[in-house]
Amino acid sequence: MSIRRDTTFDGREDVQVVQKGLAAAGAGVLLMGFLPIGLGAQAGNSDFATIDVEGNPVRWNPCQAEITVQANVKKAANKKDGKKAQKKAKKKALKEVKKATEKLKKSTGLPLKYNGKTKHVPTGQDWPDAQGNSGEIVVAYATRKGKYASNLFTSSGDAGHGGISYTLWGTPTKHAIDRGYALLDAKKALKLKRGFKSGASRGNLLLHEMGHAVGLGHASDPGQLMHPNLSHATPRGFSDHDQAGLDAVGAKQGCIKVPAYAAR
Ligand SMILES: [Zn+2]
Repeated sequence: MSIRRDTTFDGREDVQVVQKGLAAAGAGVLLMGFLPIGLGAQAGNSDFATIDVEGNPVRWNPCQAEITVQANVKKAANKKDGKKAQKKAKKKALKEVKKATEKLKKSTGLPLKYNGKTKHVPTGQDWPDAQGNSGEIVVAYATRKGKYASNLFTSSGDAGHGGISYTLWGTPTKHAIDRGYALLDAKKALKLKRGFKSGASRGNLLLHEMGHAVGLGHASDPGQLMHPNLSHATPRGFSDHDQAGLDAVGAKQGCIKVPAYAAR
């Protein structure tokens, strides 16, 4: 019985923040860098992308007891601020991760469960193993250098980065996501408006990256949250085609029986 493991989005996923008014020009330029291999946007009026293996989107098993989400908000505060203000900022950031988890749970039907704080930062090729079981999805404010750095960002302009790892087994090939991550560039994320507002808000950045952590790729329409750029055209949370994508990787698709030998 052989299994294969794969990770995706590594080296090809990013979110860039487009300043108000620059969206059209910015999007055209920024889009050049992405068109990821193996990530096909769906045909017709469903503007979303998934990782497909033999025609089936790679997704989490919605029938597992829970999909744990841990948050690293150590870097979710401005160093220049006082201790009290920093504490408050981190608390707010944590609240946003919890809220994003709830929103994503509602939109997918997946058993996502906020499972507390972590000091862990997804980084390196072995990031799926390094996360353990307590944070099957780790959401982290990460830096480019130092203790909380991640090398999973692909370009210095990225405000965020998200990805999954999944296991493949059997014939015909079956598969299931076993780990995911959502990284926020701490410096850039702190400059965004707080909360779940339309446009380039932190809530939107969180939901976009967590969208990757449940298997979504990018949309081509700037009016979808899964478009690679956050701009004035970004809706408040997921829009219609985003939702079609979430349905394609969500509980509606039914249980995946992951054999013991294939479980991480
Ligand atoms: Zn993205």
